[in-house]
Amino acid sequence: MPEEMNPYQIALRQLDHVAGILKLDDGIHAILQKPKRELTVNFPVQIEGSGTQMFTGYRVQHNTSRGPAKGGLRFHPETNLDEVRALAMWMTWKCAIVNIPFGGAKGGVVCDPKSLTLAELEDLTRRYTTEISIIIGPSSDIPAPDVGTNGQIMAWLMDTYSMHAGHTVPAVVTGKPVSIGGSEGRIDATGLGVVLVTEEAFKKRNWAMDGATIAIQGFGNVGGAAARIFHKRGAKVIAVSDVSGGITDSRGLDIPALVLHVKQTGSVVDFPSTEPVSNEEILALECDVLVPAALQGQITGANAGQVRARMVVEGANGPTTPDADAILGSRGILLIPDVLANAGGVTVSYFEWVQDIQSFFWSESQVNSRLARILRRAFAEVWAASETHRVDLRTAAYLVGVARVAEATLTRGIYP
Ligand code: GLU
Repeated sequence: MPEEMNPYQIALRQLDHVAGILKLDDGIHAILQKPKRELTVNFPVQIEGSGTQMFTGYRVQHNTSRGPAKGGLRFHPETNLDEVRALAMWMTWKCAIVNIPFGGAKGGVVCDPKSLTLAELEDLTRRYTTEISIIIGPSSDIPAPDVGTNGQIMAWLMDTYSMHAGHTVPAVVTGKPVSIGGSEGRIDATGLGVVLVTEEAFKKRNWAMDGATIAIQGFGNVGGAAARIFHKRGAKVIAVSDVSGGITDSRGLDIPALVLHVKQTGSVVDFPSTEPVSNEEILALECDVLVPAALQGQITGANAGQVRARMVVEGANGPTTPDADAILGSRGILLIPDVLANAGGVTVSYFEWVQDIQSFFWSESQVNSRLARILRRAFAEVWAASETHRVDLRTAAYLVGVARVAEATLTRGIYP
């Protein structure tokens, strides 16, 4: 399979593979290959020193057979329509795998949020929200944070949508601050989910979390929380990295001290008494669990042979290419796929949406125990599918997810 495939081509290839195993009806297969709705918007923002600048954004809804479209919003200089299409399709499978009543969507704005002032970031978010307001809404499409976005950006999105509606609409977006209808536990949910599914895999292998060695690529929304929670549960986080570089210490990093260092300096780099390690080298460190929690396309046909982890748990979306999947599989490295491993985020987004609609809020322990119940059940179903069909966990997860979406599509029937 050629490595130069873009994420959407990879997503289609993965779908075609499981469609074959499921003997999916050709018509249903054709429906699932295409995003239901795609919106591209070009809009101006006033930028200090350079006047009016045009930006391009996207919102893609892949499928809504099982409920409103759901998925994050990405601010990144290299995002593009095919990447957003792939991420939207992956959201459809992810929501179906954890069996929450949503379809899949994704949004993106081509920009470098770090180069914008706070006021420009707010203007960009509010204008993008206005442009896509014709397709988003609490019962149609609900955005959330993703790469380059955060709770504050979700707050601006909620406020803008509400200003147009003339009343407050908290359920239009998830991942908001708790003060305006966000959920307890949402910030850490994706990282906690990564740890929960790792624990389930450890049980299958009879491994202990205590002293297990973990390397994490990425120290943002997902990697940072996963590092803290792994550390709290007795694992040894031996390496982490961010866009500026990485650090390693085979004795295990002091994660609470590292979090303070990142707060002060903006990066994990130069954390005292550690060795520097590059983002590429971190993938080749010897460890029990490697968590790619940055961007897609990190473990490829070119470097999968160097991976020395015993297990890979995908915190990011799409970090492993199909060539790399095959190499890791042939080397006996267990891989827990993104659509299961990072589904904790959207699961607590679902809880947030439910709480907003009911205006009735849960405690953090209620959120976390419901999250654990959903992820453990999803893990067990995916594991069982992998045994029944003798396939890897990614294929098994897709089998579970695609079958549920196909069934919903068939049951609803084709309109008109
Ligand atoms: N961006 C996250 C993901 O890729 C969360 C999406 C959501 O909560 O809707 O799963």
